[in-house]
Amino acid sequence: IPRTLTPLRHSLGESDLFVAVKTTRKYHRSRLDLLLRTWISRSREQTYVFTDTEDEKARKILGDRLINTNCSAAHNRQALSCKMSVEYDAFIKSGRKWFCHVDDDNYVNNNALRSTLSSFHHSQDVYLGRPSLDRPIEAVERLSSRVSHSVNFWFATGGAGFCLSRGLALKMTPWASSGVFMSTAERIRLPDDCTVGYIAEALLGVPLTPCALFHSHLENLQQIPLAELHRQVTLSYGTFENKRNVINLSGVFPVEQDPSRFLSLHCILYPDTDWCPQDAGS
Ligand code: UDP
Ligand code: MN
Repeated sequence: IPRTLTPLRHSLGESDLFVAVKTTRKYHRSRLDLLLRTWISRSREQTYVFTDTEDEKARKILGDRLINTNCSAAHNRQALSCKMSVEYDAFIKSGRKWFCHVDDDNYVNNNALRSTLSSFHHSQDVYLGRPSLDRPIEAVERLSSRVSHSVNFWFATGGAGFCLSRGLALKMTPWASSGVFMSTAERIRLPDDCTVGYIAEALLGVPLTPCALFHSHLENLQQIPLAELHRQVTLSYGTFENKRNVINLSGVFPVEQDPSRFLSLHCILYPDTDWCPQDAGS
């Protein structure tokens, strides 16, 4: 007998969410500006941008929510897990209910994100995202210079975005807070998003809740039906198997003006935006 016909909703306000965007010096103009113009402009209060340099233009818009991590601007495991570690600490300090991480090539649909999270409670253990592989990853956990173990766990693709409840994030403290995240990442020698899965699933026994509403450019974005776009929590753009990979959205702006399709998507979601054509939402 079903106990409830509709799942319980826990309504969420702007100040309940902490959305961390990871970026780097070389992408401030080519990627970050696009996000500031689109989805971040509609969820400024909950969005924190983590980078590795100062930026006057972004600072004016974001104020304290632009965070210079002082991590290296290199694209290596250490630099990336350094950023994740700073994101984690800032979330814990914020006291907010939900931590979500995205890349600077993600569009976050704030309403869809909130409605997805509202079917969970922030004090439960929730690790939500798109599984990176169709099976658990097999990692070698180095416990000391002489002892290692094989561990299997699922993890959510960082490039599609993922969320952690405050309840789970707090339990992760011994392996994630004040820079320990970086040594935890070294223990399995895998990227930051795998390390989150390792801590949640392998160390704490909290399984990943798969959610197909998160998207990276490592899946075929053309396949998302137009009518379903507004329901997706995150979208992306880029390349996949050496081919251009963007969402299938004709109209609003031509591809030359809007290669990522994020401007067009934004006009469909928020047709009242001043730079959108008058009839964008219809
Ligand atoms: N990134 C970074 N430092 C770098 C290169 C990339 O912080 O030196 C960030 C970038 O801003 C993005 C994420 O890492 O948020 C993934 O980068 P990208 O999309 O270029 O690579 P992918 O992994 O998708 O191929
Ligand atoms: Mn990417």
